[in-house]
Amino acid sequence: MTAESVIDTQGDQTATRTPVTVRASLSPSRAADFKTCPLLYRFRSIDRLPERPTIEQARGTLVHAVLERLFDLPAPTRTPESAGDLVAPQWDRLVTEEPELAELFAGDDAAGVEGFLRSAAALLEGYFAVEDPRRLEPAEREALISAVVDDELLIRGYLDRLDVAPDGALRVVDYKTGGAPREAFEARALFQLKFYALVLWRTRGVVPRVLRLLYLKDAEVCDYAPDAEELVRFERTVVALWRAIEQATARQDFRPRPSRLCDWCSHQSRCPSFGGTPPPFPVAAAAPDPLVDARSRPATPGADE
Ligand code: SF4
Repeated sequence: MTAESVIDTQGDQTATRTPVTVRASLSPSRAADFKTCPLLYRFRSIDRLPERPTIEQARGTLVHAVLERLFDLPAPTRTPESAGDLVAPQWDRLVTEEPELAELFAGDDAAGVEGFLRSAAALLEGYFAVEDPRRLEPAEREALISAVVDDELLIRGYLDRLDVAPDGALRVVDYKTGGAPREAFEARALFQLKFYALVLWRTRGVVPRVLRLLYLKDAEVCDYAPDAEELVRFERTVVALWRAIEQATARQDFRPRPSRLCDWCSHQSRCPSFGGTPPPFPVAAAAPDPLVDARSRPATPGADE
C-alpha cells in the first residue's frame, strides 16, 4: 500500500509525498497503551480481548455525539437547551447502532436510564461553562486524520474537533468526560493531542498553535502550545515506540507494568501482577494486518476519557 492510497483526504493533498510502503499503523490510544503497560497493549491489540463498555465510557460516547451534532445546528441555536434536547435522541441512536450499550441498564427500571441521561446533560453544562459554541465554526469534527512517518509507519486517529482561525492557526480540541483523577490521565491525554499535532504538521505543514483539553466534569480548560522542535522529538518517540512494539511482538514478550491505571483495566484476571495468566500468544500475531489499529474511540475505560 502506498502513502497515496492511505493518507487521509482531510489533510492538504499537496502534502502527499513520494509513494512509500506502509508497514504498520498506530493510533494514539494503542501507542499510549504500550507506553502505559505493554501487556495491556497485547491484550487489546494482539489478543483483541473484548472489553465490556462501562457506564462512564457510554456517557463519554454520548456526550461526544451530542457535541458533534450540536455544531450541525445554526450557530444562534447552539444553546444549553438545544444540547439537552439532543441527549435522548443521540442515546437512542447509539443504542440502535450498539445494542450492547442497552445491557448496561439491563435489570434497571426506567429511572436508571433517566439518571444516566441526566448525568450526561450535567457534563454538557460543564461544556457550556467553558465554551460558547455560538461563536465557533469548527473546521472538522470527529475527523480521521493520518500521516506516514519514518517512511513506513502510518499514524492516525480521530480528533474530536479542529478549529481553524482566519489566519490559518490550528487549534485541536479534545473533550474529556471521565471522572477519573486527572493527574493519572493528563500525560496520556497530552500524548494523544501531540499525536494529532504531529499528523496535522506532517499533512498541512502547520504546527497547531493550541492543543486544548476540555474537562467537562470540572468545567476546566487545559491549553498546551507545541512547537516544531518538540514535534520532531515526539515523532522520534512514536517511531521508537513502534520499534519496541515490533520487537516485543517478535519476542512474544509483553510485560505488565502495574500503575494506578490498573484500577481501570479490564484484564486484571489475566494479568500476572494480579495472579492471573495471559492466554497463549496468538499465532496470527506473527503476521498482523498492519492497518487494523486505527480507531481511537470508544475510549478505554477511564483511560482515554
Ligand atoms: S492490570 Fe495493570 S499491569 Fe496488568 S495488564 Fe492491566 S494495566 Fe497492565
